Amino acid sequence: MSDGSVGRVRIDADRLWARHMELARIGRVGETGNCRVALSEEDAEARALFASWCRAAGLSLRSDRAGNMFAIRPGRDPSRKPVAAGSHLDTQPHGGRFDGISGVLAALEAVETLNDAGVETEAPLIVVNWTNEEGVSFAPGLLGSAWFAGLIADADLDAIEGPDGQRFADAAARTGWRGELRPDELALDSFFELHIEQGPVLEKEEDQVGVVTSVQGLRWLDVRVQGTDAHAGTTPLEARRDALLAAAAIVVELNRAGRAAGSDARVSVGRFRPGTDGPSTVAGCVDLVVDIRHPDADTLSGLVERCEAACTAAAAAHGCDARVSQRLAVPPRAFDPSCVDAVAAAARALGLRHRRLPSGALHDASNIAAVAPTAMIFVPCRNGVSHNVEEYAEKDDLAAGCEVLLHAMLARSGVA
Ligand SMILES: [Zn+2]
Repeated sequence: MSDGSVGRVRIDADRLWARHMELARIGRVGETGNCRVALSEEDAEARALFASWCRAAGLSLRSDRAGNMFAIRPGRDPSRKPVAAGSHLDTQPHGGRFDGISGVLAALEAVETLNDAGVETEAPLIVVNWTNEEGVSFAPGLLGSAWFAGLIADADLDAIEGPDGQRFADAAARTGWRGELRPDELALDSFFELHIEQGPVLEKEEDQVGVVTSVQGLRWLDVRVQGTDAHAGTTPLEARRDALLAAAAIVVELNRAGRAAGSDARVSVGRFRPGTDGPSTVAGCVDLVVDIRHPDADTLSGLVERCEAACTAAAAAHGCDARVSQRLAVPPRAFDPSCVDAVAAAARALGLRHRRLPSGALHDASNIAAVAPTAMIFVPCRNGVSHNVEEYAEKDDLAAGCEVLLHAMLARSGVA
């Protein structure tokens, strides 16, 4: 088959949509939600259904120590490294039908489209389901891809326990998908992850496809604001070291620092805990966590420094001290330019409205980018809502993203 006729191969939008709806019956929450926490009975059931579709498509299934699932379609040239695509089938406890799921099902749809059209690729293709992206029962999240990328050692993986003392290794084995495949047996040519955007940009700009250039970096700062507990009735306002007042000023200053760093910067305080919790006590201590994100490493470092300085200065202005320590640092990850260009070229060739943008959320692709050329495709989702039973993506947008995925994979794999 010539490249020209491959260009006209189209995915089956109805099949892709029907699979979403069929998977969503497992672990249903209300009308439109899903609860399939990683390695739960529901996750095991979803894995079994996905595996049955893969087998029916003639794919051979393997799994590794982390429970990651790999559905393999051979290529004409067995010496070529495989081109992989996928995401995750696990969900948040009140998650939706698309976060992660779309990336796995779109990869499967791409492969089945090639089956239907009788197209053989030079390189093998692999559909991947990464284990425990969401990190609900077992921490950290993005666990399967992190282990696969060599960011977590075997012994550390096996030692991970859930809140009820359940071992990760045992839970993975119980699903039937704790296999023997080693990452070094599976050097990837490339990895593509389709995912709903989980943000409002594509919908607002009326674009159908997001060409994801990078995943932004993340830092968490632990801040302890120290003042003095005092009686609310007897202590004059000017005599206080009010840690809650200082912490409130810190929140305002952090927001100001974030706004000053441009539209790509994110600065948030989502945890704010006074050491005392009495209506008549001036709080002497407050703990807060600052979440800071930016796609550029240098800008992120500068912003973190300004946030640290803002904490110290705002605390001092209210007679308090701020102790700032860094708990978590995930560097920004730029995706491989040739893979990003393959996604953009596919969107252009298909005549789809598209734009380049960074990812605000972390994804398995950020881990895999450490070991293989990687890129992501975003699909718009309604009102940018995700991690929510209301999460929704349009059938046509999923189909458009899946077409882009298929043609980006073909660009890497070559057609026999
Ligand atoms: Zn996800």
